[in-house]
Amino acid sequence: MFKTKIIVTALLAVAFTPFYSFSQQGPKKIRTIIVDAGHGGKDGGAHGAYEGGLNSWEKDITLDISNKLVDDLRQALPDVKVVPTRTTDIYQSPPEKANIANANKGDLFICIHADAVGLKQGRRQIGSHIEIVHSVYYVGKGKRRKKMIKSKNVTVPTYEYYKIGCPQQGTSVWIFAAHKTNDKLKAIMNNEDFDIGEGSDSSYNSIDFSDPANRTLALIYAKRFQDRSIKLASLVNDEIATTDRPALGTNQRQKGIWVLQATNMPAILIETGFITNHDDERYLNSDKGQQELAYCITRAIKRYKEMMENPKPTANVQADTSKP
Ligand SMILES: [Zn+2]
Repeated sequence: MFKTKIIVTALLAVAFTPFYSFSQQGPKKIRTIIVDAGHGGKDGGAHGAYEGGLNSWEKDITLDISNKLVDDLRQALPDVKVVPTRTTDIYQSPPEKANIANANKGDLFICIHADAVGLKQGRRQIGSHIEIVHSVYYVGKGKRRKKMIKSKNVTVPTYEYYKIGCPQQGTSVWIFAAHKTNDKLKAIMNNEDFDIGEGSDSSYNSIDFSDPANRTLALIYAKRFQDRSIKLASLVNDEIATTDRPALGTNQRQKGIWVLQATNMPAILIETGFITNHDDERYLNSDKGQQELAYCITRAIKRYKEMMENPKPTANVQADTSKP
């Protein structure tokens, strides 16, 4: 137990020490991008059910945006294979989605979702109605004491209850949580074809992970995937910031996001907007909104690809506002 702890600590120390930072710099060709339309089929995801809402379902919005994103990516990056997890309204469990990403040896995993919050309930008076109110009283004393009931009609207000759309708006980007690195490590280690080709284009080798050196390497990969995920997430956020809608930044969800941990590649999840917000829900359902989001994500991926493949010259490029 104690010994194991020392080994793990040592491995972590090795993986996170600056000495190994060179491993984060190696050029890496982006060959395959997985686009996951969140939810689907019997899993509708969040629902725009509030007064004045469109009653739309997250699974339909994510599918529309993903389909546009896939088209845009194929156009902007013709040398890249773009693999959608789904192109129709079908149900997939999170492990199925992760398996598609891992089996296709994705270099990036992009999950499309829409945000929602618990909604407050409002009420309004829509009229009044009569209710019979009974009151109990007693007459007499001692053994003659008698219980009496008096009834009377009272006018009471009639209320209608409704959900109030949330004020939150905007797009946020999520990466796998730092404390979930072990899960990411498992995803890397469970993948038979672990990409070890540092600086080379495509060397997929089978690795024996019982060897501590290989385990160390896997830890370095988990850390590198996290660094790359953060980089891509901030590029997406930068592109969103060029639009009229709020860019809410990049975040790590404390609870963790299963698909992000289970994929053997850098992975981000984009909460495209709040389905429970009046304006955002309309934006997310509009062709214009969906296309704008797809453009933003495509431009971010394009910049990320350039940065990864030519680390130095494009490290400080400005946001590209032209269409991809
Ligand atoms: Zn979702």
